[in-house]
Amino acid sequence: MIDSKQAIALENEYGAHNYHPLPVVLSKGKGVHVWDPEGNKYYDFLSAYSAVNQGHSHPKIIQALTEQANTLSLTSRAFYNNVLGEYEKYITDYFGFDKVLPMNTGAEGVETAIKICRKWAYEKKGIPEQEAQIIVLENNFHGRTTTVISFSNDPDARKNFGPYTPGFIKIPYNDIDALQEALKQPNIAGLLAEPIQGEAGVVVPDDGYISKTAALCKENNVLFIADEIQTGIARTGSLLAVCGDCTCAGNCERQPTYTKPDMLILGKALSGGAYPVSAVLADDHIMEVIKPGQHGSTYGGNPLACKVAIAALDVVQDEKLAQNARKLGNIFRDEMNKLVEEFDLFVKVRGKGLLNAVIINDSPDSDTAWRFCVALKDNGLLAKPTHGNIIRFAPPLVMTEEELMDCVEIIRKTVTQFKESK
Ligand SMILES: *Cc1c(COP(=O)(O)O)cnc(C)c1O
Repeated sequence: MIDSKQAIALENEYGAHNYHPLPVVLSKGKGVHVWDPEGNKYYDFLSAYSAVNQGHSHPKIIQALTEQANTLSLTSRAFYNNVLGEYEKYITDYFGFDKVLPMNTGAEGVETAIKICRKWAYEKKGIPEQEAQIIVLENNFHGRTTTVISFSNDPDARKNFGPYTPGFIKIPYNDIDALQEALKQPNIAGLLAEPIQGEAGVVVPDDGYISKTAALCKENNVLFIADEIQTGIARTGSLLAVCGDCTCAGNCERQPTYTKPDMLILGKALSGGAYPVSAVLADDHIMEVIKPGQHGSTYGGNPLACKVAIAALDVVQDEKLAQNARKLGNIFRDEMNKLVEEFDLFVKVRGKGLLNAVIINDSPDSDTAWRFCVALKDNGLLAKPTHGNIIRFAPPLVMTEEELMDCVEIIRKTVTQFKESK
């Protein structure tokens, strides 16, 4: 087996340099742990950007994957397959929608939702063709396709990738007044939002922001589209971030805290990290605008993806991952707040459930957060900075309280050493 140094050299030599990874090579994963080729063990505190909520190589998910791979993996949608319908029933019951449109990656899910929203606007709302506008929020992250980066405000994501797709109006996040103003403009079809902005640095909006946003959309006959690719599937301590404080691990439509989006986009943990699976969920009066030939993907809804997603969602319910994320998240923020008080390096901790971030006391242009993550790695915990001086902490949701406290100790030890080394 090649060693870490060789693996890094190969990636540098032959791969496009579209990422800047932390200098660690992973060759094995199990539950909350990953290992490098030299046998060093780490806690995974990123979970592949919240794709591995169920833990690495969850036996139930891997069993579903291997069994189905040995049976039938891909038919395309030119034919029916005997698993897609079962999955469609399962996932629509699970999240409480009439219909699902299956895709593969998160960005494709977002593209799908945008297309459905526009078509709905022309065919149901009566917006003149070519005129539909979708409201998006500043500092959003919805993926990397040409349309999606057209409404990003991250210069790296955008620069020299134009011309950009028109039809989007950007307003500040967590600002109801700005939304009210924007909704006065003509031809608004939808509003696309992350209920908590993950890539922006785990920005949690004010209480009531999401429910007010959804209510304003409803009043104005505008579709409220929730991108829960990162926040969904138990990550924030409830099944979806739009569930608010409800912990039922299933269809929580009955709960008063639940804000039902008109369209829900899922990805990442929908497969527990085993396979690319994404989905757009909506009720019939919206989804019915899509007819044969108008949208699709060769791999979308393939039997392997369907079996993996069913297993991944089963695990979330069986192992009560939402409840665990909520409990451990509260403990984690309490512990991090102690470090914020004791050490200058940590300015603030914020987040919900097990989606958290610590703000590092330096400018976003500094390499302090990067160096701190390298130091964490050396002590056996993997996390990654986002936006320079923010470190996201998002372990798999199968973590135990004992393991979490072990991680807190690693972070404490690293802050102490970091202070001494400066
Ligand atoms: C990761 C992410 C996406 C994009 O998903 P990909 O699978 O990388 O295309 C979209 N929206 C949000 C909120 C995400 O976190």
